[in-house]
Amino acid sequence: MRFPGDLPLRLPERTAGKPALLYIHIPFCERLCPYCSFHRVVFSETLCRDYFRALRREISLYRDLGYDFGGIYVGGGTPTVLIDELEQTLATARDHFAIREISVETNPDHLTPERLEVLKRAGVNRLSVGVQSFDDGLLRQMDRLEKYGRGEIIAARLKETMGRFDTLNADMIFNFPSQTEAMIERDLATILGLGLDQVTYYPLMVSDMTKERVRQTFGEIDWGKEARLYGIVARRLASAYRFSSAWCFSRREAMIDEYIVAYDDYAGLGSGSIGYLGGTCYANTFDIPAYISMLSQDRPVLPLLAVRPFSVRDRVRYEFLMRLFGMGVDMTELEGKFGRSWRYLWGEILAFGAAGALRCERPHFRLTDRGRYIWVILMREFFTAVNNFRHYCRVRAGY
Ligand code: SF4
Repeated sequence: MRFPGDLPLRLPERTAGKPALLYIHIPFCERLCPYCSFHRVVFSETLCRDYFRALRREISLYRDLGYDFGGIYVGGGTPTVLIDELEQTLATARDHFAIREISVETNPDHLTPERLEVLKRAGVNRLSVGVQSFDDGLLRQMDRLEKYGRGEIIAARLKETMGRFDTLNADMIFNFPSQTEAMIERDLATILGLGLDQVTYYPLMVSDMTKERVRQTFGEIDWGKEARLYGIVARRLASAYRFSSAWCFSRREAMIDEYIVAYDDYAGLGSGSIGYLGGTCYANTFDIPAYISMLSQDRPVLPLLAVRPFSVRDRVRYEFLMRLFGMGVDMTELEGKFGRSWRYLWGEILAFGAAGALRCERPHFRLTDRGRYIWVILMREFFTAVNNFRHYCRVRAGY
């Protein structure tokens, strides 16, 4: 992922069209996990309160620039680390924009009645909980056992939370080197027993930042095992869920972690956020004190680090990749948006068709069973490239 260094740091004009998504990043965690490639630092209350104040000013800047948003996704880090600040920030966004849906990420130890009450009041309708696994041995290796409790306790907390939001999602991970097929089967039995609304089963991703740590903590990654474990996950969950994406399983239509599938445009707010508006990709500064200071001055400025307008060819290919990650692409819609430029995709369509990844159901191309796993690999590599970019920026910012 590359950004040219000589372009003016500004966002494209807002154009009319489908409502965009507002992504908000909260880069604070009480303790850091060894496999995590996200932009996050150890929680400090003073810094975090200053950060939330800056975030609210950034939200107002987008309103002043004429942007409008239909949904909010708050990711991290741990967005619920200061629940009163999160509530105030969501209220600011809802005052400015016609928000229809709000998704917030959290950790199992934050599923407390007090926090859940605040989230409900703030209009959150999807809660996504970072579970990763219910296996105590694996949780210990991940350094999550002490923090979030045993798998049994996490499952009980999820059970108590069910029914309080339109969608309760559990984020899981498969293909840790020490994770066996039997462990995955037990986790799947727990999920099916709970009857969660949604499950997102990520393949383990390693970036330049985490690969050595992952090797030391969990061992060498076996990519051959990844395909086998994905096969087990997909087969078992397909009995009770439908595919919302190649790795997200939902009981009904719902917002998903990969908002890039459902929203053509998304703004990235907060330190280290990445946005994509009107065909331009951009990133905010990863330097948290610099982020706060740029937004705290008398005349606050957008804390942009880099921008990259995509060529038409890149845009068409990006949309093709994302729509198919969401299981199908409507070629009439793509042609309506890009005109004859959709023909840039001929090479991809022929290659993926020959590989047995696509099925044509006019006007759609849809992923086949084989195509789903191919898309898991493609998206794993896509997010790994994003994580490597984050790592590069974090190092430059002094983390
Ligand atoms: S996995 Fe989640 S809780 Fe752990 S460091 Fe990363 S963002 Fe924080």
